[in-house]
Amino acid sequence: MIRIIHQRAKCIGCNYCVEVAPNTWEIDKTDGKATLIGSTQKKGFYILTTTNDEFEANFEAQNICPVKIIKVEKTTK
Ligand code: SF4
Repeated sequence: MIRIIHQRAKCIGCNYCVEVAPNTWEIDKTDGKATLIGSTQKKGFYILTTTNDEFEANFEAQNICPVKIIKVEKTTK
């Protein structure tokens, strides 16, 4: 499994994460920021645990995000 972490407050809504990882990201029509689909919020961080097949696309999102607020890591469970 992998864990994706999003520091949503700092998102500038550039849409890059949606372009490279459309299964896990969408732009919220209300505030224009990216939303990590299905995530839960903890102290301002949005966290999603999902399957390994989402790693590559989200690793690319991590690297492409201009404000560096996406983090993806492999988990043990
Ligand atoms: S790439 Fe980063 S700044 Fe751009 S929409 Fe996604 S999370 Fe927000």
